[in-house]
Parts: sequence; structure tokens; C-alpha cells
Amino acid sequence: MFSMDLIQFQRLFNKEPRYRLEQAKKALFHDLIQNWQEAATLPLSLREELNKKWPIEISAKTFVSKDKNTTKVLLTLKDGLKIETVLMCHKDKRNTICVSSQVGCYLNCSFCATGKIGFERNLEVWEIVEQVLFFARYLKKIKEKVTNIVFMGMGEPFLNYQNVIGAIKILNDKEGFNLGARHFSISTVGIVDGIEKLAKEELQINLAISLHAPNDELRSKLMPINKKYPIKKILNAADDYIKKTRRRVMFEYIMIKNLNDSEEHAKTLAGLMKKPLYFVNLISYNPTGIFKPSFSLRIKKFKEILEKKGVMVTQRYRFGEDIEAACGQLVAKDGRK
Ligand code: SF4
Repeated sequence: MFSMDLIQFQRLFNKEPRYRLEQAKKALFHDLIQNWQEAATLPLSLREELNKKWPIEISAKTFVSKDKNTTKVLLTLKDGLKIETVLMCHKDKRNTICVSSQVGCYLNCSFCATGKIGFERNLEVWEIVEQVLFFARYLKKIKEKVTNIVFMGMGEPFLNYQNVIGAIKILNDKEGFNLGARHFSISTVGIVDGIEKLAKEELQINLAISLHAPNDELRSKLMPINKKYPIKKILNAADDYIKKTRRRVMFEYIMIKNLNDSEEHAKTLAGLMKKPLYFVNLISYNPTGIFKPSFSLRIKKFKEILEKKGVMVTQRYRFGEDIEAACGQLVAKDGRK
């Protein structure tokens, strides 16, 4: 069911007239069919062959939050491994899908549940695309569409660079899913070669960097990868990226109680972030174990300090905490509420 190679898919059309592949893509990405039998434009024999050799059903277990704004799915891959994908429905009609790029993650950030389960493997291109197709079909039933895709689920997208970009190209392709490039965001812990490669792509997608601490000492405690890619290296890469692309870079900062949320931290952060195309996104921490979230008053004060120093700041509110679908909570465990 999952992750048959796309080339294999195209090969199934080798003996068909050229327009058949286009018809199939339209049925798959535009009409959002769930089974090839629904592709009325294709001959019956081809539909049967496709169902046999390239089935498109996606079986998943769905969890919906109490406020109905967040839906999480647990998808089982062809080798039995599991991943999670999250849909967040915003009040302003945006429907954002938070996509996973790896099964697990080996970077072991101390605040993240995914990091605790270790690393299994990279996701293939089609396994990434299918996460989006699942929710596109789901939203179609309520006459809604996917409006944004963020690579903030399980895994570090730049450690699976080729497949992540491959999936984005299919999802962005006019003959594919046809979602505008500006509606994609990749969130990285700051893998510098990934940032450098992305700057050279002709794709106008958004870049987010998880900073979470304003100095190397604290950041290395929270994110061991900081020893390889310390703050200065990351900011240099971000500056080069901005020079090449003229695009903004978002720096994510999880607010953890009594750890990275003091006035001193805010002032140091402001010193790093006061650049024209930088902006900071403050995120309430979703408890996954040892840490606690900052009080909202503390976050307010932190935000004010940054703003007073001329830093652009936004604040992201929690989504899907009750179904463990919030940032850093994805572990692909079965059988939870
Ligand atoms: S925060 Fe991201 S990079 Fe860090 S362990 Fe979790 S999934 Fe991996």
C-alpha cells in the first residue's frame, strides 16, 4: 500500500496513450479518489491493474481533540513501522498539516518525545506525500482543503533532504497536488548543509529554525546537535540563505519554565534576532516529561522585551495537547485515547 516507487507508478502507463497518466494524476491529486475504481476517466482494465500494482487506500487510526481543531493520525507503513501526522484547523480557515519526515529521530532533543523513541529509518517520498493525501481526502468530506504543509512532525527533515524535497515537488507540481510553494515550511534544528542546499533550490518555501536557547551552553543541553552546529554557524547559514533568497527566516523558541524564559534570556535572544528578515515564534511548551511550560505572564514579558528591542515576534498557541499531537509529542504509539 505505502511507498511504491513513483517511477514504478509511471511505468504502469508506458503502454498507454500519454494523456492516461495525466488523467490518473488528476484523479489521484485533484479528485482525491480513495480507490482506483473511482477514477471514471480510466478504462476498467487499467483501474484494476492500478489497484493491484499501485493501491492507494490509506488505512489509519484517527484521534480528534476535544475542541475538534486538531486531528492526529497513526499511519502504518508497509514494513509495519508507524508514524504520526497532524491536522490543525485554524479559525481563519487555514488547514495546516504537520508532516513527519522520518520514523523516529536520533537527535534526542531533551524536550521532545520523538527523540526518546530513537531512529528507525527515513521516510520515502511517497510515504511523505501520502500523509498529505490522507488529510486532503479527509478534508474533502467537509468541503475543506489543505492550505499549509509544515515539516514539523517526527524527524529532522534535512536529514532526509532528498525525499523531503522530492515530496514537496510532487505536492507543489501543477500536475500533482498543486499547492503553492509559499504554503510549505521546513523546520530544522539547524542542519547547516540543509540550509545551504535549500538556498539553492528554486522553490519559494519557508524556512524555520528551532533555536530554543539564546546561548550555546543552554542550547547544547537542550539539543545535543548544537555541538555540531552551534548558534553562530546556524545564524551565518541563515544570513547566507536570506542573501540568496530574500526570504524571511522564522526562529522557533519553545518557552520552558525556569529554563530559557528569563528576562536575561530574552535580552540575549534579542541581541541575536534583531535583523531585518528574522522573526521569532514563541511556542508554549507541551509537557512531554521533565520540563514544565512557562507561565503565560512570563511569555508575555519575554515577548515584550523582544518587541521593545525591535525584534519581530509571533506567538503560537497550543494545539492538540489532549491527543498528544502537539509539537514534540509525536511518538507513534498505538492504543492511546
Ligand atoms: S525536536 Fe525534532 S530534531 Fe529534536 S528530537 Fe524531536 S523530532 Fe528530532
